[in-house]
Amino acid sequence: MIPSAFSFYKPDNLQKAINLIADFGDEGRVIAGGHSLIPVMKQRLTDIKHLIDLSAINELKGIKIKGSSISIGAMTTQVELITNAELFKVAPVIREASLQIADPQVRNLGTIGGNVANGDPANDMPGLMQLLDATYTINGKNGVREIKAREFYEGAYFTAREDDEILVSISFNSPIGGYAYEKQKRKIGDYATAAAGVILSVDNGVCSSASIALTNLSDTPIYCSDAVSMLIGKQIDDSLLSEVTKSCVEQSDPVADQRGPVEFKKYVAGIVVNKALNRAFDRS
Ligand SMILES: Cc1cc2nc3c(=O)[nH]c(=O)nc-3n(C[C@H](O)[C@H](O)[C@H](O)COP(=O)(O)OP(=O)(O)OC[C@H]3O[C@@H](n4cnc5c(N)ncnc54)[C@H](O)[C@@H]3O)c2cc1C
Repeated sequence: MIPSAFSFYKPDNLQKAINLIADFGDEGRVIAGGHSLIPVMKQRLTDIKHLIDLSAINELKGIKIKGSSISIGAMTTQVELITNAELFKVAPVIREASLQIADPQVRNLGTIGGNVANGDPANDMPGLMQLLDATYTINGKNGVREIKAREFYEGAYFTAREDDEILVSISFNSPIGGYAYEKQKRKIGDYATAAAGVILSVDNGVCSSASIALTNLSDTPIYCSDAVSMLIGKQIDDSLLSEVTKSCVEQSDPVADQRGPVEFKKYVAGIVVNKALNRAFDRS
């Protein structure tokens, strides 16, 4: 199908984009890589009258690393996340997770901003950003505000971002310790049946800090705070990792769909969480 008619704008700075989205209200929408938005426009699941392309706005691009602080512009593509050698040095889990997204064609255009702003529970980056305890910087006609990734997602396709706000950048501190992002999917290019990210810091076998987040196991990403509390200060062994895995699976709340029934998804959740915990521990 072809989308219904719309007018197209390509502002060359952020303020112009903010003014346009404020003027158009519900009838306007920004477009980044278009890999999520264009399919829903073509299926006429959404009726957009004014499309604002963010691709000419340099303020939204690039990866800045200062010591342990990392800031990534919303229009940074997934392929840039994979190929940036400096980013790999300070946050290798980003490359590991990004390489598991879709296929090279999608990753060439798909952006980190579009992936996290979309609010699709199947997208990998919202969970990854909760894993990293990232902060989103958002700008709109009422000014700039910051929202933690762990507080951003309210339901499938519902986020704390207002319609007239633009996600500008994503920032976080370089994670310390071992890491892993494990994803089970039906085939290359598919979204996750279940995925899990883990970061673990271990001193003499004792966990000193941890983070665990899940993808596509609820209508929002899940930060597993109970499981994290079970790890901190404890000697890590197989039995603790099994208990932690069980806690993550209990926190999951998947729905049955073409990727399988609820029981299967919970089973897969247990596998990906346990694999991620073990791999992060081995790397710590
Ligand atoms: C075949 C296929 C397979 C895929 N598989 C995966 C997968 O396995 N894992 C995964 O994570 N993703 C997957 N994706 C999604 C893809 O990786 C993109 O990240 C995703 O489409 C969103 O990024 P985009 O830049 O294309 O955003 P767009 O499609 O341009 O935008 C998506 C939404 O976000 C809004 N938006 C975009 N940028 C901003 C901004 N800066 N501020 C505010 N709102 C904004 C738009 O208005 C729109 O509502 C897949 C896509 C396809 C087509």
